[in-house]
Amino acid sequence: MATTQTVGSRQIKGPKKLRDAYREVIGRIAEAAVRSGRQPDQVLCVAVTKTASPDQIRSLVEMGHIDLGESRVQQLTQRAASIEEFLSRKRTLSGAATKPASPPDALPPEKVRWHMIGHLQRNKVKQVLPLVQLIHSVDSLRLAEEIHNYAARQDRVMDILIQVNTSGEVSKQGITPPAVIHMADQINTMLHLRLRGVMSMAPRSENPEDARPIFSRTAELFHELRTSSAGGPDCNILSMGMSDDFEVAIEEGANIVRVGRAIFGESVPPD
Ligand SMILES: *Cc1c(COP(=O)(O)O)cnc(C)c1O
Repeated sequence: MATTQTVGSRQIKGPKKLRDAYREVIGRIAEAAVRSGRQPDQVLCVAVTKTASPDQIRSLVEMGHIDLGESRVQQLTQRAASIEEFLSRKRTLSGAATKPASPPDALPPEKVRWHMIGHLQRNKVKQVLPLVQLIHSVDSLRLAEEIHNYAARQDRVMDILIQVNTSGEVSKQGITPPAVIHMADQINTMLHLRLRGVMSMAPRSENPEDARPIFSRTAELFHELRTSSAGGPDCNILSMGMSDDFEVAIEEGANIVRVGRAIFGESVPPD
């Protein structure tokens, strides 16, 4: 049976291809974790759904995957709603026709966890907050304040990461490395925010090794933050590494990687 079909100019990874790609990524993450002296379950894979079709996202969740990431608010809203509906239908049907999954595939989770990983405009905070577990992309104090305001209204504490522009590329969002500790101190005065760590992106490159100095500098900064007065036991997330460079990121200390194309394929769905 063909597992790759072309619709227009789009290449779609069918369930079998998707499963293989996913397993490969999870295997490579595990190996990189072990190479860096950690256990495979100490590195979390956020599957970035930017290039995924709704079917692919459902298939991945059916394989037991829990953590999903989006960089755009509209897509996040639509996808979170569609997955929630899918899971609630599954919950309704469960008991009727459950078949045991054979390892290494887990059962579909009760709930998924969404991660906001892209630039967030302050006027979209209200929409995003109820849907997400972690915002990776806090890149200004004003955005942090806005998230704090809405979190306070909902009487919850929102987990956030400071996005750092370690590479200094003008095109990248994020605050400059020397400003991180000061921003962390200010965030820590806001009771409805919990600073969990930092996120960073390396410039796109053919060679993953090009990203290593950026990741290593980000890891140093993370260490500096953790051991400063702005740190603390909750500040334990280093989110870095994407499809082209996640192994290097893990070797340099990342404990969350955000992987899109290596799981779902290259194409951007037309929505
Ligand atoms: C798109 C995106 C990713 C995933 O990128 P891939 O190269 O598809 O793995 C990760 N992080 C952020 C912030 C992104 O925007």
